[in-house]
Amino acid sequence: MALINDFLSLIYPRPCEACGNTLFKHERFICHYCKLHLPKSNYHKKPENALHTAFMGRVPLVYALPFYVFEKSGRVQKMLHAIKYRGQKELGEYLGQLYGKELYEHITAIDVVVPVPLHKKKLKMRGYNQSEWFAKGLASGLNTEINTTSLERSIETGTQTKKKKYERWENVEGIFELKNKAQFANKHILLTDDVITTGATIEAAWQAFKDIDGVKISAASIAFTHKM
Ligand SMILES: [Zn+2]
Repeated sequence: MALINDFLSLIYPRPCEACGNTLFKHERFICHYCKLHLPKSNYHKKPENALHTAFMGRVPLVYALPFYVFEKSGRVQKMLHAIKYRGQKELGEYLGQLYGKELYEHITAIDVVVPVPLHKKKLKMRGYNQSEWFAKGLASGLNTEINTTSLERSIETGTQTKKKKYERWENVEGIFELKNKAQFANKHILLTDDVITTGATIEAAWQAFKDIDGVKISAASIAFTHKM
């Protein structure tokens, strides 16, 4: 079997989804170098981080947890693009697992991971929700539950990216609907998106949970773009 794998990797070299270099056969999705050197935020080790501060006064998050921050060489962006537009959903799951395992050593209070849902029209077009695949990996790394059925996106917000930041902040209420709210009482929810840019999506999702008794909310993403 090892011989066959060696042979296959000669004919079909797989590129690292971050830097593009050819992967060795034991490497999955990203090369060893990228695994070590991609720009991790390490925000779980500093709770008062830039993202947590950016949400202050808007969304009272317990933890703000982006796996990576954006960097000039664009490796993180390349991975996000692959996950969202090139069907590489398993890469999203893989990154979730890596991050979940790192978080698990520091953060054990999470009860349930809830990915930010796509509107059903968009889900039909793309065929999968990239945030859900990342959330699946996170939940397994954190050894906790995932809920993909209670939060629904009732308003399609795709065109909002063209609007100015302050306009977007005013339009967050009512984008998401939450079913069976009572199950989340006194739970710590980890809202999960692929990327946090303006924070509007996380705020909109938080709106759906905020009135539940004793609920705590944190947010995780693959990357954070510093545009808040
Ligand atoms: Zn690489």
